[in-house]
Amino acid sequence: MYLYNLRLYDFRNFSELNTKFNNGINIFYGDNAQGKTNLLEAIYFISELRAARAFKESELIKYERPLAFIKGEFKTNTGPITRQVTFYRDRKKEVKEGENKKNKRSDLCPDISAVYFSPDDVDLIKGEPGLRRRFIDNIVCQFRPTFYKYLQDYQRVLAERNMLLKSIKVKPELIKTLDPWDNQLIEFGFRVISERISMLSKISQKAKDYFKSFSPPESHLDIKYKSEIDFTNLSLIKKDYSKKLIENRKKDIGRSFTSLGPHRDDIEFLINGRDAKYFASQGQQRLITLCLKFAQRSLLSTEKGEFPILLLDDVMSELDEGHRKLILDDEKSQVFITTTDLKFIPDNILKKASLYLINNGR
Ligand code: ATP
Ligand code: MG
Repeated sequence: MYLYNLRLYDFRNFSELNTKFNNGINIFYGDNAQGKTNLLEAIYFISELRAARAFKESELIKYERPLAFIKGEFKTNTGPITRQVTFYRDRKKEVKEGENKKNKRSDLCPDISAVYFSPDDVDLIKGEPGLRRRFIDNIVCQFRPTFYKYLQDYQRVLAERNMLLKSIKVKPELIKTLDPWDNQLIEFGFRVISERISMLSKISQKAKDYFKSFSPPESHLDIKYKSEIDFTNLSLIKKDYSKKLIENRKKDIGRSFTSLGPHRDDIEFLINGRDAKYFASQGQQRLITLCLKFAQRSLLSTEKGEFPILLLDDVMSELDEGHRKLILDDEKSQVFITTTDLKFIPDNILKKASLYLINNGR
């Protein structure tokens, strides 16, 4: 699957763009602040219908302009697909495939997908647990678009339960009404946890293999799901969850907050048994995130029968020469790379790439 044509209108610093791409390697090069990352962001959005870095979708609209659009023309194994997204400042975005409006992510053509690597991804190792939960949740959604609904259900019940905890503080007799909420929380929470650990075990196996191939023989990576709930045996999760919710009730009422469940879980990355968050070098942390992205790409390709588009933002300047050569020695998918200088791109990659000089939104 690949993107062969992209059109933009008032997207970030691009007023208008209409350009063709090669189905192999495409390189966007140019000085800082010209629009290289913005282009990757547009490609990611049109492929995944999710923002790679924008906090609000309205940030994607060019300053002072009322709307923006991205139109992508893809070739997939099952035929061509044209997808268009229009963003408005004052209402919800509109998504179309061909002439058909699409309201739900799960209605979109499942063949199109992308994996984005940005230098900010080290936050996945160094940052807050919420980032790691979002990472795994997004991947599960890529494979199972209905997972998004489970997550929403879980969040809704969690919010309701927290409200009730607050009310119980003032009106203790309301505690009688807590059980049904706990049961729903356990039901939805179980689905979230079990989908996460099943996806994590697949992705970590692959990521560990990549890490091994990129690292000296003595270093190895481990990836672990962390939860207060005992998940070592799937069939016992609900029981343990329920037991611990009851144990924590008093504390939870005091804080008006549910202290355990998938919204509190985390993922741990270990190099030779030590937490990478505290002990790994900057380069090793970067390598872990790169391996995770490559693992994600490899799994997506097995699942969908097509390789996702690979978007590598500024990754070349971050890696030493040996790693640079390694990361693109396959030619499996369409790749977009940004760089401030072509000297960071190894010759073997340059030779087969299409080059695009990005200059002030053109
Ligand atoms: P670097 O090499 O520093 O990473 P870049 O080429 O990747 O640079 P981008 O992140 O793509 O640069 O940003 C290009 C410019 O787009 C920036 O100057 C930024 O301020 C501008 N920009 C961001 N959002 C908008 C927007 N909504 N409207 C107009 N311009 C924007
Ligand atoms: Mg950039």
